Amino acid sequence: MSASIKAVTVLGATGSIGLSTLDVLSRHTDRFRLYAVTANTQVEKMAEICRNYRPEVAVMADTASAEQLKKLLQNEIEVTILGGAEALSEVASAEPVDVVMAAIVGSVGLMPTLSAARAGKRILLANKEALVMAGHLFMSEVEKHGAELLPIDSEHNAIFQCLESNYQRELTTQGLNNEGPESKGVAKILLTGSGGPFREYPLDKFDEITPEQAVAHPNWSMGPKISVDSATMMNKGLELIEACWLFNVSHDDVEIVLHKQSIIHSMVAYNDGSVLAQMGNPDMRTPIANALGWPERISSGVEPLDLIQVSQLNFEKADENRFPCLRLARQAIQRGGTSMAILNAANEVAVQAFLQSQIAFTHIAELIEQTMNNIPHQQTDSLQQILADDQAAREFVNHQLSLMSADC
Ligand code: NAD
Ligand code: MG
Repeated sequence: MSASIKAVTVLGATGSIGLSTLDVLSRHTDRFRLYAVTANTQVEKMAEICRNYRPEVAVMADTASAEQLKKLLQNEIEVTILGGAEALSEVASAEPVDVVMAAIVGSVGLMPTLSAARAGKRILLANKEALVMAGHLFMSEVEKHGAELLPIDSEHNAIFQCLESNYQRELTTQGLNNEGPESKGVAKILLTGSGGPFREYPLDKFDEITPEQAVAHPNWSMGPKISVDSATMMNKGLELIEACWLFNVSHDDVEIVLHKQSIIHSMVAYNDGSVLAQMGNPDMRTPIANALGWPERISSGVEPLDLIQVSQLNFEKADENRFPCLRLARQAIQRGGTSMAILNAANEVAVQAFLQSQIAFTHIAELIEQTMNNIPHQQTDSLQQILADDQAAREFVNHQLSLMSADC
C-alpha cells in the first residue's frame, strides 16, 4: 500500500454526510482507503455500506447491533465488526488512521471526535454539536496534540475558503492561539442561511407545523435533526457558535444574512471593502471534497453551478422574533462557559420530542429558554462539568415534557 494513500474513518457513515463522504472517497481510491465506518443501530444500511465500500472495521454503537451485523455479513465479506461507545473512539484514534470524518449527529459525537483530536488526526468536522458544547476544550486539544481541524459545515467551509491560504494553515492547527482574522484585514464574517422552510410562513400558524413539514428543507437534503434545526434556525444559532470557535472571533464579528437560494455559502468582508464569497450548488460533497483534499482541490461529483439558471441571488435580514432560537444562541455565547452545552442539550431533547409529535414546533424554543433560565451554567471548560450540565439540561427538558404530557 502506498504511503501517500490516506486511511479514513467515517464516524456516522450511514447518515447524510457519511454517505456523501463515502461517495467522494470512492472517486479517489488513489488517494484514500476506507479504514473504518461507524453507525448507531442501522444494521441493514451498514451491511450495504460494508459490501459496497469494503472498510477494514465496522463499528455499531451497541454490541447487540454489532452481533446482528456479524450475522448479516458472515461468510460474505471480511470485516472486523465491533460494538459500543469505546470502539467508536478507538477507530477515531487508531494508529493507521490519518483522517476522521466526524459526522455523528449530536452530543454523542463529542467523545470520538475528541479522541481523534487527542490522537493528532486530520478532523473533518461536520458534527457541530461537539464544538458547540465543548468549543474551548476541543480547540485546545486540537492545538495541543497537533491535530488538524477542517470545517465541513458548508458555511464554515465557505468562510475557510475565503481566507488567505497562510491564515488557513494557522487556523487548522493553532485553534485559539492564532492572531485572529482582524490581523489579516478581515472586517466581518457574513454567515448565510436559507431561512429554512418557514422563512415566510404565517407566524400565527407556527404552532401547527408538523415534523413532515419541518424536515422538508427547500434546498438541502439532510438528516432529520439538522433539518428541524434549520426550520427553527437553531442550526444558524449553532453555526454562529461554531464560527466563533473555528475562526477565533466574537459573535459581534459575525452577521447572519438570509439568502434563500443557498448558492452563496457564506462570505468574508475585508477592510478594503472587498467581500469574498464561496458559491456552488447546495451539495455537501463540495465542502467534503474541499476538506479531504485541502490544500489541493479534488473532484466531488457535484454538478457545475449554472448561474444563468439561478438568475437571482437575494439577501435579507434574519428576524429573531420569527426565529427565537437565534436569540437564545446569542444569549448562550454571551453567558459563556457551559451555557452552550445547556442550549445544545435542551435543543437535542426538544427536537427529538417534536420529531416524535410529542410537542408543537413552537415548544422547541420555549423549552430551550426555560432550560437556560433554570439550569445554572458554570464558567469552565472542564469536560466533566460540560457533561454534567448537558445531563442536567436533558433531565430538565424530560421533566418538562412529562408535565406537558400529563396536562394533555
Ligand atoms: P444523519 O441523521 O443523517 O446521520 C447521523 C449519523 O450519526 C448516522 O450515521 C447515525 O447512525 C449516527 N448516530 C446517530 N446517533 C448515534 C449514536 N447514539 N451513536 C453513534 N452514532 C450515532 O445526520 P447528518 O445530516 O448526516 O448530520 C451529521 C452531522 O453533520 C450533524 O452534526 C449535522 O449538524 C452536521 N451537518 C450536516 C449537514 C447535512 O447536510 N446533512 C450539513 C452540515 C452539518
Ligand atoms: Mg450549515
